[in-house]
Amino acid sequence: MSDGSTGDDEPPILSVRDLRTRIRTDDGWLHAVDGVSFDVGRGETVCLVGESGSGKSVTCESLTGLVPRPPAEVSADAVEFDGEPIAGRSEAELRSVRGSRIAHVFQNPQSALDPVYTVGRQVTEPIRIHEDVSRSAARDRAVDLLRRVGIPRADERLDGYPHEFSGGMQQRIAIAIALAGDPDLLIADEPTTAVDVTVQARLLDLFRSIVGDGTSALLVTHDLRVVAAAADRVLVMYGGTIVERGPVEAVFDAPSHPYTQALFDSYGGTGGPSIADRSARGDLPTDGCRFRAECPHAVDECAGGAQPAFHAVDASAAHAASCVHYGPNGDPAPIRENATSPTDGRDPGEAECGSTGPPAGPTANAEGERR
Ligand code: SF4
Repeated sequence: MSDGSTGDDEPPILSVRDLRTRIRTDDGWLHAVDGVSFDVGRGETVCLVGESGSGKSVTCESLTGLVPRPPAEVSADAVEFDGEPIAGRSEAELRSVRGSRIAHVFQNPQSALDPVYTVGRQVTEPIRIHEDVSRSAARDRAVDLLRRVGIPRADERLDGYPHEFSGGMQQRIAIAIALAGDPDLLIADEPTTAVDVTVQARLLDLFRSIVGDGTSALLVTHDLRVVAAAADRVLVMYGGTIVERGPVEAVFDAPSHPYTQALFDSYGGTGGPSIADRSARGDLPTDGCRFRAECPHAVDECAGGAQPAFHAVDASAAHAASCVHYGPNGDPAPIRENATSPTDGRDPGEAECGSTGPPAGPTANAEGERR
C-alpha cells in the first residue's frame, strides 16, 4: 500500500500512478500535480482534501482529459479505469468514458446545464442512453432523481429551464444528471459548496446511498465535515502532492503529517480552512518536501531530491505520511505530540455535517495550482 493502493484483493475501479500535470504560464511552468498516485476501490469513496490551489481539482480534471492541452501537459505512469488504460486516449474516447461510466460534478453547475433545454430533457437523456426504457419510464426515473437531490415539486419542475432555478438547485440538478447515467465512478468537485446545510446533508446521504449501490466516488472538498460524513479513505494534498493518506477514521484520529495537522488545527468551521492559500503560491519548494518552509519539524534532509517517501504512521500500512520523521531514521514523537484531531475535546455528535461547528470525526456519522 505504499503506492496508494486500496489494500483490497479486488482490482480498483480507478488506479493512478505518478500523475503529473504542468501548466505553461507567463512566469514559466506551473507544476499543478506533481507525482500523485492513488487507487479508488469498487464501492469506495475517496476524498481529496486540502486548501484551494493544492492540486485537488486539477488532479481530477487530468484523469479524464478535462484540463485544456495546451497550455497544460499531462503525463502518468498509468491511469487505469476498470482495468483499462485511459491515459493517452483520444479526446473522443475520453468523452465517451466521461459521458457514460465516469460522471463529473463540478463546482459550477452552469458547466453541466444547457440553458436551451428543459431540465427534464437533460436528466432523461442519459437515462435513455444508459437504459432501454420508454420515455415515460425515463421521466418517472428523472422525477425520482430530482426528488432524491431535494428538488421540490419535481414532477412539475421537470419542464422548467435551468435559469428558472436557484444556484443551489442548479447544483442539485447537475448532480441528478451525473447520476442519471448510473456511472461506475462519480468524480465530484466541491459538490456541496453552493448549497445550504440541510441540502448538504441530504446530498451526502444521497452520495452514501449511491456508493452503497456499487458506484465509487472520488470527492474533492476542503470541508472536513464533508470528509467525515462521506469518506472511506482520505488523501491530503499540498503543493500538488499527496502528503498523507489513510482510512478516514485513522487520519481523523491521528493526523500525522505536519501539514495535515496545520489544516485540521486551522479549520474554523463553516468557511473551510482559515490558513492562507499557501499551496496556491508559486514560491513553494520544487524539490524535497514542499511543506518544509513552514514546517516546524523540518530538518536538513527535508530539502533536495524527490518528495519524501511514504512511511506507515501506525501498525496499519494503510495510514501513511510523506515525511522523513516516519522513516527508519526519523523520530515522529514530536509530531505525534502535536496531533490534534478535529474531534478532540468535543462530543463527536455535536458537529455532524450540517452543523456550524468544527467537523465531527467519521465515528459520529459514519486549483491552477502552484507550488
Ligand atoms: S518531510 Fe520535513 S518538512 Fe516535510 S513535513 Fe516532514 S519534517 Fe516537515
